[in-house]
Amino acid sequence: MSDPRYSVCGSGYALTEKQRELIALAESLGPRFAERAARYDREASFPHENYAELRSAGFLGLCVPEKNGGLGADFKTYSLVSATLGKYCGATALTFNMHACSTLWPGLLADDLDMTAEQREEHEKRKARHFEKIISGGAIYAQPFSEGSAAAAGQAPFGTTATRVDGGWRINGKKIFASLAGAASCYGVLCTEAKPQLSMRDTLYLSVPADAPGLSIVGDWDPLGMRGTVSRTLVFKDVLVGDDAQMMPRGVYYQAASRWPHMFTTLSPTYLGIAIAAYEFTVRYLRGDLPGVAVRRRMYPTKQVAVAEMWIKLEQTRALFLRMLEDARVDPTKDARLRAYASQFTIMENANDLCRLAIRTCGGQSMLKSLPLERLYRDSRCGSLMLPWTAELCLDRIGREALYEPGESD
Ligand SMILES: Cc1cc2nc3c(=O)[nH]c(=O)nc-3n(C[C@H](O)[C@H](O)[C@H](O)COP(=O)(O)OP(=O)(O)OC[C@H]3O[C@@H](n4cnc5c(N)ncnc54)[C@H](O)[C@@H]3O)c2cc1C
Repeated sequence: MSDPRYSVCGSGYALTEKQRELIALAESLGPRFAERAARYDREASFPHENYAELRSAGFLGLCVPEKNGGLGADFKTYSLVSATLGKYCGATALTFNMHACSTLWPGLLADDLDMTAEQREEHEKRKARHFEKIISGGAIYAQPFSEGSAAAAGQAPFGTTATRVDGGWRINGKKIFASLAGAASCYGVLCTEAKPQLSMRDTLYLSVPADAPGLSIVGDWDPLGMRGTVSRTLVFKDVLVGDDAQMMPRGVYYQAASRWPHMFTTLSPTYLGIAIAAYEFTVRYLRGDLPGVAVRRRMYPTKQVAVAEMWIKLEQTRALFLRMLEDARVDPTKDARLRAYASQFTIMENANDLCRLAIRTCGGQSMLKSLPLERLYRDSRCGSLMLPWTAELCLDRIGREALYEPGESD
């Protein structure tokens, strides 16, 4: 068992047997992910080997219900596993989020949402086929929704449109920052049903096979951090998909976004993992425990104070994360919703701050590319940019929702 100081929930936190097993499984994969992380980062290449291991471990079906052949992880279990993977390779954990949410949203989340009996029956059939592709076919899903407009922030309809055609949909548009570009088997595209007036209520969530005619991947990928996510641009030109491509019935994504807000916190566990890794690195570095770093620095009071500050920040971050996990459900109370924003903000901002403190405290040798800290620092910088709940938008939402009740205006 790994040292509980460097685990996602620490000692003494109540976990089910299944959660314990899945976290242990993620821990067992971790060291090999960590070994490969520098190469994916240097090459800005996708972590294919890690995905082969995730597939062998059954993790592609982590959030697929057991009755459909998956591991049946719920939101909380997923978040604990994701944060554990994040300690070892941020890009793997972040891309795995896109895949896992492509099963969690149409699966457990959609179970909580209102549908007509007809919609429910149809969704059950479509969902089962979608899960089958993953469980039997080993399919990997991406989740492109960003477009460079106000849509990904949840404040305008998606500009990518789906026009009703006989037996399905014709998709046109563009998605930026599509993690897993070129590696995914299917792209779970959020788009708007084409009508004279586009409306967020008409958001569709459609699965597009990677080899669909009219789908192309364009542009280069040479970012600051999270380089292994390979988040390139997708262009859809008259891409045709059948009715079965619907990952949620019409209108249900819109309902999910307003009634299951914790669905947007799932990017943050990756960054909690990075924060833990930066803290662990610092302790091991200052103790002289890291291979190839023989100098001990732990006897200096300034280092001890810095580590103390880092531990306090990490514990504050972890405590809020674990508290937020308890709140996640359909129609959460207002305080739980505000706490979800606070958790997302805290994890994303503190992950980067912990990496900053780690470099300042350990010093120049610690940021050489032969060590993982400089990568953690760059990867951590990306967290607060992730829409729809960027750090800025979390502040925006907390401020507005704290001061206004529904229907109030000035
Ligand atoms: C490593 C990485 C992987 C990613 N993977 C994916 C992925 O798989 N799928 C995907 O869909 N996206 C992905 N994204 C995209 C990400 O979620 C954001 O959409 C992207 O970073 C936004 O960039 P932008 O320049 O278009 O931001 P802009 O939309 O220009 O926003 C810039 C900033 O302005 C603020 N802002 C934006 N809109 C508003 C508003 N209406 N009101 C007030 N403030 C606002 C936000 O704080 C935002 O950070 C990824 C991003 C990164 C960095």
